[in-house]
Amino acid sequence: MIENKKVLILGMARSGYEVAKLISKANNNIYITDMKDQEEAKLKELEELGIEFIKTDEPESLLDETFDILIKNPAVFPFHPCVVKAKELNIPVVNEMEVAYHYINKPVKIIGVTGSNGKTTTVSLINEVLKNAKIPVKLGGNIGTPLSQIVNELEENDILLLEISDHQLIDMNDFKTDISVLTNLCPTHLDYHGSYENYKSVKKKIFNHHTKSDIAIINASNYDSMELTKDIASTKYYFNNEENYITDKGIYVDNELAINTSDIILKGHHNYENILATYLVAKVLGVDFKYVNEVLKEFKGVAHRIEYVRTIDGVSYYNDSKSTNPTSTITALKSFDGNIHLILGGMERSQDFHDLTPYLSKVKCIYAIGEVRGRIMAYAKEKNKESYEFATLKEAMVKIKEEVKPGDIVLLSPASASWDQYLKFEDRGDEFKSIVNNLESV
Ligand code: ADP
Repeated sequence: MIENKKVLILGMARSGYEVAKLISKANNNIYITDMKDQEEAKLKELEELGIEFIKTDEPESLLDETFDILIKNPAVFPFHPCVVKAKELNIPVVNEMEVAYHYINKPVKIIGVTGSNGKTTTVSLINEVLKNAKIPVKLGGNIGTPLSQIVNELEENDILLLEISDHQLIDMNDFKTDISVLTNLCPTHLDYHGSYENYKSVKKKIFNHHTKSDIAIINASNYDSMELTKDIASTKYYFNNEENYITDKGIYVDNELAINTSDIILKGHHNYENILATYLVAKVLGVDFKYVNEVLKEFKGVAHRIEYVRTIDGVSYYNDSKSTNPTSTITALKSFDGNIHLILGGMERSQDFHDLTPYLSKVKCIYAIGEVRGRIMAYAKEKNKESYEFATLKEAMVKIKEEVKPGDIVLLSPASASWDQYLKFEDRGDEFKSIVNNLESV
């Protein structure tokens, strides 16, 4: 708990706003800064709680030795001048989740999910399984709802399920889970952490303060995850090992077939790994696998991540609008056997479409859209791939409707940011879904 302290919250967003409210009692003197304007209603609410908002892009000029704590927004880089100054002044730097953790005042079980890829999908699956098994669960963290917003709603024996990113773990000290899932590790966010070594050591904090009675769920096929967790104290459960594995037929837990892949709506080997991790969480919690299987037969995927939309006249439509670079599109292409009508394009960011070449045999036709469409067309021509060019997604969908045959897949996996035509990738995906759901009238 933070009491009688002078606090600087660096970065407002949702988490800064929620943590400001959380700590607003207890005689704290709170300042919150951001470089952008904020919603008037929120600022008024904070003002009424005695919290001062200061718009500035030089928050370090506000910070001096009279402050007791700096609460840093996860998106702020660790070498931001304000963070550096706090460290020089010996002012502790923490983040919203670490602060909120100290406000948990009921016995709850905490499950934390981290990893380079698959966090949101895995927490979403676990959440659906627990809800299906009627186990009280509250979901939050990096997935969107700050812990500060949930903490006062927790009931005794709830499961608190948190998606936790490296940007959050970096400023966590006392925070401890009961069950930690590490989906995988690969070099990413290196600009933020300075090196892969730093990034990995930050990820290791998901196992902080663990003893033998705490659980770690780890991807055995991921060398870096195995190396990193060699010396942790937790009781370890592994997936992708000789007991818990994936075959063409299905997913096996403890060497027994848990589910046939034909019964799973989610596509892709990467998603089967997320599913394996989910089975292990169910096993540790003593949840009957029938509750997992029921979810897998219904779960269409997290929105905009190879999300199944609909099948019309034997043609299945998938929304992978979250794909903003060729690497994500490769993951999507790998998830299907072939016959793909691929919608590519968006903002010009010098992305190299040649990365897709090894998977191009699965693609029947490319529909190039957006600012970068000229380069996509040139690439398709070079590879002798059938292709069409349209300014917008809507125009492309009209052509797709003419071209598709039963058994085909239509995949929006643009390998490009959406900002040339949309505010965010969610808007692009929502438009795609809305067109698909009204395809009869296109
Ligand atoms: P995160 O929350 O870690 O960003 P998501 O679950 O939102 O992960 O998935 C984002 C993208 O990451 C997916 O569209 C897919 O391309 C890829 N992905 C998801 N799960 C995995 C996994 N287990 N291994 C590798 N890549 C994955």
